[in-house]
Amino acid sequence: MATVLSHLDRLTTEDFAVVNGKVVISAAACATMAACPDSATVSSRVHGRYRRRLADVALAGRPVVLNLCVRRFVCVKPDCRRRTFVEQVEGVTSRFTRRSQPLRRTLMAIGHALAGRAGARLSRLLGIGVSPNTMLRLIRSQCDRPSVRAPRVLGVDDFALNRATSTAPS
Ligand SMILES: [Zn+2]
Repeated sequence: MATVLSHLDRLTTEDFAVVNGKVVISAAACATMAACPDSATVSSRVHGRYRRRLADVALAGRPVVLNLCVRRFVCVKPDCRRRTFVEQVEGVTSRFTRRSQPLRRTLMAIGHALAGRAGARLSRLLGIGVSPNTMLRLIRSQCDRPSVRAPRVLGVDDFALNRATSTAPS
């Protein structure tokens, strides 16, 4: 399975089944330790485990559900305000999301190319269907993050160029 879905290399695959037309992959994270998102302190003290269900990239046009067992670790730094945290699997999971990172990247690429409705239609054909609103929300979430630093100094030419383009006759 790992050779087909290379982003799952960091996981131990437990089961693979087709349920109601969806491919369900049960897997578990296998790293022995994880870093606290606040203090970056590495911990191996496991507080508990639970299952996360994530939508993943489609397999031969079928939707894929990743039934992932993740662990909650105890932060071992005494003055850290976060007492426990959930591990994230690099290249697969992100905090507060129900889609794998490869699926999010795929949907964002479709959204940037086709936008809401057309993107949603194509995503349904590919087996990763989302609504037009979800498609737009994914694009906006990427746009909210500043990808480049704001310029520290603006020259007169920059201002003149912007003013010239905004007042140009159409
Ligand atoms: Zn911490």
